[in-house]
Amino acid sequence: MKAIALISGGLDSILAAKLISGLGIDIIGLKFKTSFYARPGKTQDSYGIEIKEIDISQQFLSIVLNPRYGYGSNINPCIDCKIFMLNKARELMPGFHAEFVVTGEVLGQRPMSQNRQNLDLVEKKSGLEGFLLRPLSAKLLKETTPEKERWVDRQQLLALSGRSRREQIKLAKDFGIKEYPQPAGGCLLTNPDFSEKIQKLINFGELNLEHVELLKMGRFFRLSEKARLIVGRNKEENEGLTKSMKKEDYLFMPQDIMGPAALGRGDFNNALIRLSCSIVCRYCDLDGKKETEVIYQRPYEGKEAVLKVEPLDEVSLAGFKI
Ligand code: SF4
Repeated sequence: MKAIALISGGLDSILAAKLISGLGIDIIGLKFKTSFYARPGKTQDSYGIEIKEIDISQQFLSIVLNPRYGYGSNINPCIDCKIFMLNKARELMPGFHAEFVVTGEVLGQRPMSQNRQNLDLVEKKSGLEGFLLRPLSAKLLKETTPEKERWVDRQQLLALSGRSRREQIKLAKDFGIKEYPQPAGGCLLTNPDFSEKIQKLINFGELNLEHVELLKMGRFFRLSEKARLIVGRNKEENEGLTKSMKKEDYLFMPQDIMGPAALGRGDFNNALIRLSCSIVCRYCDLDGKKETEVIYQRPYEGKEAVLKVEPLDEVSLAGFKI
């Protein structure tokens, strides 16, 4: 007997998968990848579960733009997102010879997407009625087909509810799981600052995968309809921006003082190059000086030049910032 388990990257989904695996069911972990997760750090341990990753970034954008069931407290379309992922899992069931789907949802853990009404809605709309098992809260929910058919023993399932993590931490210990991600509360769309930026991109009609990736790489400035400048906020981002350069991009950096790297992408004329240098200058350690020299280079043209600029004033800066 096989089941698909949705693996979100948090502890709960791993615990749910381990629990069902411990009852003799073969688990295939499915992890859906969207652009709205923070950049991955070290590769996460899969805790002995075979995990297949499926990229749904492009389709997910349309959900963000037009969620049938609306947004959570930010621009997070959790209900539509869950329906979409579970629908995908259902479609993949025959290929994996899986009989049901497992998730780590806990009743009442998230006010919007994990209340009883919405758990039922998600189950119904995903076409998985009776075949969606949430082992962490199963004893508080309707009996599912895997329980009725005795594929899994309901008595071995749990009755967790609410936001406390105490039981999960205990369970992780029982499974010998020592390191696990802290509950992050969802993807980047649950972050108010990030959501606000996504909303601005939507307002400009410019929400696309490239912009979402750029947004994650540093401070994002929309200089014109066709020119973007991304300014690093720390060493890691400065290095990331330098590495991500395409041959037509511009790279801006201060000449002799401490300051960020910035990536310019799109159509730049002389005025926009000067503007970009002033923005970079705004984030430099000027140490009392009024101006500094900023180098800009474009590998495509083999061009490198220096401009002496003053920092851009805060009001103008805010007008360009996404
Ligand atoms: S937090 Fe993000 S990934 Fe998680 S259900 Fe909501 S929209 Fe989907």
